[in-house]
Amino acid sequence: MHTDTTQTRTRLFRAVTIFASGMGAAILALWAMDIAGLDLAGRSDASVIGAIVLGLATLAGAGSAHAYFVGSDDTSDAYEMLLNTDPVTGLLSRKGFADALVRQMEAEDNASGLKRSFLISLDFDSLRDFNDVYGMETGDALLKVFGERLRRIVDDAGLIARTSGGEFVVVLAGTHDERELRAAVDALLGVMSLPVRVGQASHSVFWNAGVAEIHHRKSSVERMLRNANLARANARTASRGTWSIYHPEMSQVAAYRSWIEAELHGAMQREELHLNYQPKVSASTGETLAYEALLRWNHHRKGIIPPSEFIPVAEHCGLIQQIGDFVLRQVCEDLTVLPPHITVSANVSPAQFRRDDFVPNLARLLTETETDPARLEIEITESLLIRNHVAMRRVLDSLRELGVTLAIDDFGTGYSNLSNLSELRFHTLKIDKSFVDRLGDHDPSAGAMVSSIVGMARSLGAEVVAEGVETDAQATMLKAAGCMIMQGYLYGRPVPLSTILREQQADEEADEREALLDQADNVYRLPSLAAAG
Ligand code: C2E
Ligand code: CA
Ligand code: CA
Repeated sequence: MHTDTTQTRTRLFRAVTIFASGMGAAILALWAMDIAGLDLAGRSDASVIGAIVLGLATLAGAGSAHAYFVGSDDTSDAYEMLLNTDPVTGLLSRKGFADALVRQMEAEDNASGLKRSFLISLDFDSLRDFNDVYGMETGDALLKVFGERLRRIVDDAGLIARTSGGEFVVVLAGTHDERELRAAVDALLGVMSLPVRVGQASHSVFWNAGVAEIHHRKSSVERMLRNANLARANARTASRGTWSIYHPEMSQVAAYRSWIEAELHGAMQREELHLNYQPKVSASTGETLAYEALLRWNHHRKGIIPPSEFIPVAEHCGLIQQIGDFVLRQVCEDLTVLPPHITVSANVSPAQFRRDDFVPNLARLLTETETDPARLEIEITESLLIRNHVAMRRVLDSLRELGVTLAIDDFGTGYSNLSNLSELRFHTLKIDKSFVDRLGDHDPSAGAMVSSIVGMARSLGAEVVAEGVETDAQATMLKAAGCMIMQGYLYGRPVPLSTILREQQADEEADEREALLDQADNVYRLPSLAAAG
């Protein structure tokens, strides 16, 4: 039945095309004769007309043949369908979404009312990690699961598309106010962020979302998508798992990044970059064991610009190499004035670490500054390690040969399990602040998770540092879970080296005073003791 209709439609289409080509040719012929000043009714040069008609007939023939072989309404329908559908999830593609939204906007253009529509752009930023660790097939299967989740939540109420990678777009129609919108987006993210299971392992899922209002008359779909994505990027900068609503100021963010890039060049020359040091403290004794070097930019006009704003730009524009060299050199120099039992860790960006000359340059620096390699630790984020597991191993081996230790930073934000990383033989594991925060939220699973991370790290012979410890309650729970090194505002904020040296000196002076007092005490007491005796 279906094939019959298909064939009829195809035949009809061809006939219409051929007819249209013929008509086109006829019109063209009349028009050409008009131009040539020829008159069909009057005396005419038969050979000229013959040539023209022959040429046009050929054209018409070619046109109809072209239509016959290339196009039928069904193949073009199928082609259109292909373009409009995302092959992985079966949802709309970016193009399909844009077309559908334009149609919807046109239909609703005249419908007035108090209801508003919003475009929500969602991004699952760890798709690449999943692909790297488990393979593309698992990544695709994951996208299908996400697509299904969206279908179930949104149902027929709105358009859903996968626009690229782990990026999905949803239209939320018929919302009254911002409160309703907030509730809806929270619910959406709540469902999308449910953990996923791959084999035996359950993985946390983080989404960021951006929302832009659909203004029927004024805006193009592309502009609205751009705005929603900008809002999403803004939310991502603040924290994983969050969302925000587009605000025109966000367009200035892009401009701000260009400004940073331009200014960063001068910052190096003007010596506006310096390091702050944050202590890592023994949970049992309260003693400072080490420091983490954290970069600061004190711009001559703007003041302090946080690393979260300029490091990504530096990585993007390549300046991170120069900046990274500066950090490592400064750390080596500062180590000479810190007590010999203190170690310092430096953050190294993936872009720095990937360069072939990273280890040789570091070796040269250590020799030049006469630094004991054992006092330097390199912090690398977990995501970098899982992305380039094999290549990383070589670099890490040569780092270890140098005698420099390695810390895995932000552990728990990527998707590696510890056994994956165990071959890398790292020295320190830093539990990400997001876990520590969850401890504070009395999330019972977080405590169990931290305990198991500590247990596994210990069995691998690694130290565990908890990052971002802010409250006594968190510290107590971390200690109960077996974590013995703490870093966070509760123990000390990042401060310039001069502050540390001043405090060090004050401590030494206090110790001396105490010793003198003890002596004085003894001197004073001795006679009285003697008298008593
Ligand atoms: P990170 O390596 O995870 O550094 C820890 C961040 O947490 C630091 O932010 C630190 O100041 C902050 N922090 C520490 N304790 C607490 C706490 O109790 N509460 C809260 N809310 N925050 C705490 P900072 O200094 O802004 O650095 C941000 C990120 O910038 C660093 O994250 C690191 O990824 C990057 N970064 C900093 N310095 C460098 C550097 O020299 N090179 C590279 N490549 N990246 C750097
Ligand atoms: Ca770090
Ligand atoms: Ca960290």
